[in-house]
Amino acid sequence: MSFRFTARLPLSRHAVDRDNDARAEPELFERLWADAGTRVLPLWKGKALLDASAAGVAPRLLLLTPADLPGVLPAAALRVYLGRSLDAEAAEPVGTALVAVPLDAEQAAALEPDDTRWVGLRDYATLLSDRDTGILTESLGILHWHDSHPHCPRCGAATEVTSGGWVRHCPVDGSQVFPRTDAAVIVLITDGLDRVLLGSNAMWEANRYSLLAGFVEPGESFESAVVREVFEESGMRVADPVYQGSQPWPFPASIMVGFTARLADGQHSAGLVPDGTEILDLRWFSRAELSDPENGIMLPGTSSIARALIDDWLARPAPVAPDAAAGQGNPGV
Ligand SMILES: [Zn+2]
Repeated sequence: MSFRFTARLPLSRHAVDRDNDARAEPELFERLWADAGTRVLPLWKGKALLDASAAGVAPRLLLLTPADLPGVLPAAALRVYLGRSLDAEAAEPVGTALVAVPLDAEQAAALEPDDTRWVGLRDYATLLSDRDTGILTESLGILHWHDSHPHCPRCGAATEVTSGGWVRHCPVDGSQVFPRTDAAVIVLITDGLDRVLLGSNAMWEANRYSLLAGFVEPGESFESAVVREVFEESGMRVADPVYQGSQPWPFPASIMVGFTARLADGQHSAGLVPDGTEILDLRWFSRAELSDPENGIMLPGTSSIARALIDDWLARPAPVAPDAAAGQGNPGV
């Protein structure tokens, strides 16, 4: 069940074999650049271009051949081997090698001078194919990491990119630095009255609400992070966190780990205490309230796992006798 939920999350979709073995080839990019079948995903400031030849059909990312980028790629330029396409419906054959290349402003302008033609993952995550969403998500995650980790954490020396773009190596002390992903838990909490708990973040519009979420701390399980974060942000104790699925969120380096949980025994749903800094307002919402557009409640964007968890809850049949569920575990999915 959980895998099915994950597989339909917009940014969890993918259709690429990451082809880990090839990363060890010392001359990997020389080989790929000599192959006219290789396709390059150009990126600028975390954005990509759409293939104009796909106008009128489902949007797809613009992929170039190495020869389409003459002079753009000195040997030292950052390249990341994304893997091999598994998409039988794509314009390129299954097995096509895919490489992400971040461009600087000048290179990007030479390719497409109109800023508005460069598009972001959040806006297109639900419109692109599994493969294109997957490679854009993969590219953003790894390129953000390169941007923020240019130096060795041990000695501070500038590191060099190796292993197809997936490792940085320190030439001074030999350290290998690997990409990191920050785990954050996000939790759909229900009470005994078949309502869901949503909070309004201090940085949002007053009527925007979402699930409670927070980063996992060192030495902490996902489940413990759920219990701690909910208590910190709401003053409520929850029990029985149940994993639902996960979605990468490369803005810049997260993976969102989705849970459901129920109020712990003895907790009363009226006892909400927003933390006052991160969360300004907390409310229990019924299905009817969330489904009624007249309420003007703004929910998370359709590319988020928060929205998917809320929609999943709304799509479930309501308990026959909500009162009977008080103090009981969430039915789960
Ligand atoms: Zn070092």
